[in-house]
Amino acid sequence: MRTFPIFVSFDGKPPLVVGGSALAAIKTRLLLKRAERVDVAADALGSELSQFAGEGRVVQQPSRPGVDQIRGRPLVISATEDEDEDARIAEIARALGVPVNVPDRPALCTAALAAIVDRGEVTVAIGTAAAAPVLAQRLRAWLENELHPRLGDLAALAGQFRDRVAAALPEGPGRRRLWERIFDGPAARAMLHGDEITARKLIDGEIASAASAENDRAQRPQGRVLLVGAGPGDPELLTMKAIRALKAADVVFYDKLVGDGVLELARREAELISVGKAKGAHSVPQSQINALLVARAKAGETVVRLKGGDPFIFGRGGEELDALRAESIAVEVIPGVTAGAAAAASLQIPLTHRDVSHTVTFVSGHEAGGKAPSFEHLDLRALASGNNTLVVYMGVTTGAVIAQRLLDAGFRDGLPVMAVENASRPDERRVATTISALANDAESLGLNSPAVLIFGEVAGLPAAGAVETILAHEEVVRAYA
Ligand code: SAH
Repeated sequence: MRTFPIFVSFDGKPPLVVGGSALAAIKTRLLLKRAERVDVAADALGSELSQFAGEGRVVQQPSRPGVDQIRGRPLVISATEDEDEDARIAEIARALGVPVNVPDRPALCTAALAAIVDRGEVTVAIGTAAAAPVLAQRLRAWLENELHPRLGDLAALAGQFRDRVAAALPEGPGRRRLWERIFDGPAARAMLHGDEITARKLIDGEIASAASAENDRAQRPQGRVLLVGAGPGDPELLTMKAIRALKAADVVFYDKLVGDGVLELARREAELISVGKAKGAHSVPQSQINALLVARAKAGETVVRLKGGDPFIFGRGGEELDALRAESIAVEVIPGVTAGAAAAASLQIPLTHRDVSHTVTFVSGHEAGGKAPSFEHLDLRALASGNNTLVVYMGVTTGAVIAQRLLDAGFRDGLPVMAVENASRPDERRVATTISALANDAESLGLNSPAVLIFGEVAGLPAAGAVETILAHEEVVRAYA
């Protein structure tokens, strides 16, 4: 059952439960969390339902309801425990377009009931499309723990200030920033501590200062840019700061290598703009990206510049930072898990290891213009001593040339190399080889971008998970035996 969660209003006609048994009582009790009154169609009411009826919260209706009893209901739950009767009710409801739920008979349902976490004004609804109700219950228990018990009070308080905020500030980034300050700052903390008086005072203060800043155009808060590391692809590798930045964004400029799962975490209203950057593909020139970031921040927006891995590792983050500083725009940099680190973690191969490698060097396999690098800035002979790890980014097409340069500089023939494609993504692929095999025949690895190449003795340590092996040297055969 494919479903879309919505909240149904119970302000009109009451919902209808069909059946008078214990199951019907459970469903009625659930509805009474939000409905003032529930109509129950049954010949006889069980004890709990009778009690609700005594309190005036349940009104008994004749059993076997027809079209007139079902029309206009916000929701009908058929819990007669009689298959034919449930099917009859479901059919009428379906024909009338009234949402209907029949416990444990998904085929008859046009509506699924969510597991609910209830914090007054704040309701969290959990659905598993009827596939795993126990999982939904566990999630609910977890959320119960996680969500502050006074969250609903906070939301209710915010609701009381809505009109005043709307009067004080026009709709737009300024107003949203005010709410962010309220929810992230001392006002919310005071409210959650149960100190409503202080919370009200603090909100008053926030509104006043936001309003005066808004009125005084010169002082109007400028936007800002967050240079955010999106990690290697798996959204679970995002930092909490990265998630918070995504949730605050008015606009997100992202690179090709940023995973879809990461983008899904952006604020729903945020504009998502791809600025390319996949190798070879047409992309927005860096100068234009810089100009876009500056322009949007100057317009007062919260701009997220989302970059694969870490923004400061082969990400041109430094150039963007310079451009923003030159325009005096506030910048925050949020680090990300760089591809080399993600690859190493996935393989469970340490990049440095007390007995094997003492340094790690991240190098780019491309120079400006797409050529293989000359590495003239690197002391390759020193690195060739053996106890160093070299992680090459952007080296898929230049891998063979790089391997040959390293051999020429004195790297030993059989040095293990591990290539990891799409690290941390569902289609991650790893290939073990040697530096000489790579120099002779890089094609046989069948590598595709994005991939990192790890050169060094650590690449010969036992790796976790499936590794394809392209062997051309005895020593490595031993290492993997
Ligand atoms: N700032 C990024 C690197 C950008 S350069 C970071 O810190 O990871 C782009 C290169 O990163 C790719 O050519 C590839 O070498 C590497 N890369 C990025 N994502 C990767 C991934 N999921 N798996 C393997 N390599 C990746």
